[in-house]
Amino acid sequence: MKGYVHVYTGNGKGKTTASLGLAVRALGAGKKVYIGQFAKSKHYSELVTIDKLLTDITLKQYGMGCFIFDKPKEEDIQAAQQGLKDAIAAIESDKYDLIILDEANIAIHYSLFSAANLIEALNRRNERTEIVITGRYACQEIIDYADLVTEMKEVKHYYQQGVQARVGIEK
Ligand code: ATP
Ligand code: MG
Repeated sequence: MKGYVHVYTGNGKGKTTASLGLAVRALGAGKKVYIGQFAKSKHYSELVTIDKLLTDITLKQYGMGCFIFDKPKEEDIQAAQQGLKDAIAAIESDKYDLIILDEANIAIHYSLFSAANLIEALNRRNERTEIVITGRYACQEIIDYADLVTEMKEVKHYYQQGVQARVGIEK
């Protein structure tokens, strides 16, 4: 079965959780899943789920997670570059049917690596591998490269009323 490249972008809620939903579906079909989370270091509840309940899934985090309000520091760049390296290793290992690069669009947006770097990595995949790239601000090169692009559009979000990320819902 041929694999395709998905992009989940836009400023509405549901990008990361859509990718996790796809992972759950893929695991049920006996597929192996790799998730690299960029620009994230904080605790997300899905880490516990994966740890306690799921097998055949690998999740790694790369990032200090706080530069978004600031300029990326050298360690943010190093972390993202390591994440890209590990993603390339996962792609080349041919061990995974679904590879999710969560917030990779953010990494590109903040110049932690380039769209060309990511495309070069994706070009190394086996044609059966399904890839998902998430994050706001997907750039044109990535949109052009993808086979499927979904934009989550924010119609309303309680964030606008000052509701911060809640455990089990946003994190
Ligand atoms: P989910 O993980 O729930 O699927 P997502 O991946 O679509 O969401 P991200 O773009 O990764 O969402 O957003 C991460 C966090 O940013 C959210 O947890 C939320 O608290 C916060 N957020 C939501 N809307 C905004 C906004 N308009 N501006 C800034 N931050 C926001
Ligand atoms: Mg997200």
